Amino acid sequence: MSRHYHIATMGCQMNEYDSDHLGQLLQAEDFKPTEDPHRADLILINTCTVRDKAEQKAYSLLGRMIGLKKRKPGLVLGIMGCIAQQKGSALIERFPGLDFVIGTKELETVPRILEKLTREGGRVVAADLTKRSMFSSANPGYFKDRVKSFVTIMEGCNNFCSYCIVPYVRGREVSRLPEEIIKETEKLVEQGVKEVTLLGQNVNSYRSGESQAEGGFPSLLRKLNNIEGLLRIRFTTSHPKDLSDDLIHCFKDLEKLCGHIHLPLQSGSNHVLKSMKRGYTREHYLELVENLRRVNPDVAITSDVIVGFPGEKGGDFELTLDVVKKIGFDNLYSFKYSDREGTLASAMEPKVPSHERACRLQTLQQLQKGITLHKNRKLVGRRVEVLVEGRSKKGNELTGRTGSNKVVNFDCESELPGDLVQVRIENAYANSLRGEFVH
Ligand code: SAM
Ligand code: SF4
Repeated sequence: MSRHYHIATMGCQMNEYDSDHLGQLLQAEDFKPTEDPHRADLILINTCTVRDKAEQKAYSLLGRMIGLKKRKPGLVLGIMGCIAQQKGSALIERFPGLDFVIGTKELETVPRILEKLTREGGRVVAADLTKRSMFSSANPGYFKDRVKSFVTIMEGCNNFCSYCIVPYVRGREVSRLPEEIIKETEKLVEQGVKEVTLLGQNVNSYRSGESQAEGGFPSLLRKLNNIEGLLRIRFTTSHPKDLSDDLIHCFKDLEKLCGHIHLPLQSGSNHVLKSMKRGYTREHYLELVENLRRVNPDVAITSDVIVGFPGEKGGDFELTLDVVKKIGFDNLYSFKYSDREGTLASAMEPKVPSHERACRLQTLQQLQKGITLHKNRKLVGRRVEVLVEGRSKKGNELTGRTGSNKVVNFDCESELPGDLVQVRIENAYANSLRGEFVH
């Protein structure tokens, strides 16, 4: 009888990519995937620790899975991702039902760990951050029926922004070889994938080989742009301090590169940006946006902002609101500052009181809601190109995204997932657009 695995993925796209990667390894070991944890013989929780809320959510899921294991003693339970990397063996001590803990560079060891657990029993912790993680190529058929896929091009981060846990749990920056990335993308295209999103904590510091001109991120984009059958390329996340003119020009020169950039601002106050150790000023950020829009006036810009960073005064927050108004982001992901153990900011004072952080977040989100709606409404009457992804949640219409990453729903009988179609926008909402199929 075949064994089933279930992976619950929390957090960012990097984790989704890792879960896919592990899924392929498990399928090569004759495991079959299941969405239902009750049917699983192996459950893995892929965790995020970027904010306290994400960490608590992971513990609560782990608690529920330990409850499940009490009713199904043969079940093997593992934890992976950023919490696993950070806490290591402390998790084994705290959660008696847990069988193994694997760090962010240990995916390839899972088959061996499972073999060891079957053979000898016991409990295993593998969390060596100095390992070079090996990316294996896609299993044939794994991505069949998928229109989009992630491709990790670099791991880790060297920036050590003062609030951020990522460099401690993902290690230093390591870029993959362009040949490996191209091969993986070609395999995805063979399986029917039409759009890839290149992933890295800091994709624009991607560097392979000696020369930045030949081994840098724009050069990789140009190579991927030549892959036949691939329709769209996206990437995330870019750091403003590494956004070169060469990369900005790719938004004009490369026809497969989607007109969307996610460029985290974090704060509009120079004083806060400095204590965050971001390496740019608000003026520089505004100039980058101007340059991007000069090259491609339709480019969609989205961003991340943290409110209530230690020492952020009312005036600093006003400066953030001011930049948000000036730029008019297409969308904004905003977060209340959350103390992360071991980061520089966790020792900074004064902390902004929790109710004040909540109040600032609400003000910012209200402002952005209006801006997003206004931007979406400007598309009414315009024709946009949509990559069809499948049926919408309601099931009776097709859904896809524009190059600018906006969700579009429309009625159509004939088109299939993976087709690029023209849609005229009829209605705009805060989170999606509705249109009429043109051809
Ligand atoms: N590498 C990306 C970058 O440079 O922005 C994103 C990394 S992080 C996983 C995603 C977002 O989480 C960040 O852009 C930041 O806004 C937010 N974030 C990170 N640490 C945080 C913290 N301690 N409290 C609140 N938000 C945080
Ligand atoms: Fe974290 Fe800064 Fe690195 Fe992004 S660039 S992952 S926010 S340390």
